[in-house]
Amino acid sequence: MPQPQGLCIDISGVLHEEGEIVAGSRDAIARLRRAGVPLRFLTNTSRKPSRAVLDQLRDLGVGATEEEVLTAPAAVARFLEARNLKPWLLVHPDIEEEFEPAPYSDADAVVVCDAGDRFDYRRLDQAFRLLMAGTPLLAVGMNRYFKQSDGLHLDAGPFIRALEYAAGVEATIIGKPGEAMFHEACDSMGLAPGDCLMIGDDVEADIGGARRAGLEAALVTTGKYRESDHDRATELGAGVFDDIAAVVSHWF
Ligand SMILES: [Mg+2]
Repeated sequence: MPQPQGLCIDISGVLHEEGEIVAGSRDAIARLRRAGVPLRFLTNTSRKPSRAVLDQLRDLGVGATEEEVLTAPAAVARFLEARNLKPWLLVHPDIEEEFEPAPYSDADAVVVCDAGDRFDYRRLDQAFRLLMAGTPLLAVGMNRYFKQSDGLHLDAGPFIRALEYAAGVEATIIGKPGEAMFHEACDSMGLAPGDCLMIGDDVEADIGGARRAGLEAALVTTGKYRESDHDRATELGAGVFDDIAAVVSHWF
């Protein structure tokens, strides 16, 4: 592909691995800044509100403005607000501040993010019952797992699938790999999807989602990358690079 005009960059696994900066990523971002390339940071993280993501980027030495950060829970909140829907939440307590929840009996949407220990039988069953009554299911993403210092952990995807299966419904996915978040990012840079490149470590959520949304994509082999992802990325028409520094020096 020709040089991309704008970049969408995943945060976890690309800029840092469990809080440790990925070598070369700070310089890579600085290089893009000097080249005047518009950037958007896209994260499905659903254990941190937007302001904490901004703080995290600053701590990593990757300064970003509010408009450059798109988190999936904030995108869900904007989606609800635009439709005047009041949600019942199955989310991590740390991101409740993004939403204006409704009491259980008044909810007109069920929102599921990575809820950690809150994914217990009682709450999943409550969500299921709302879905059976026809309440729509909104989710941040279908990520199967995420990686922490002690290894891989279940993300929200498997729980969303379980609810879909039980209630015979399909979730509306607002975060990656849903097209909406990629399109929102490109639109906000004033660019067409085909002129933008997504850099991520999740072959399905970042790369598959970006390709379906019409963006070019580059998979990095940092973060949650596993060897079996290489062929899948190639199949999706994405390049595979050692890290974000390699992607940036390839084009800039
Ligand atoms: Mg990632």
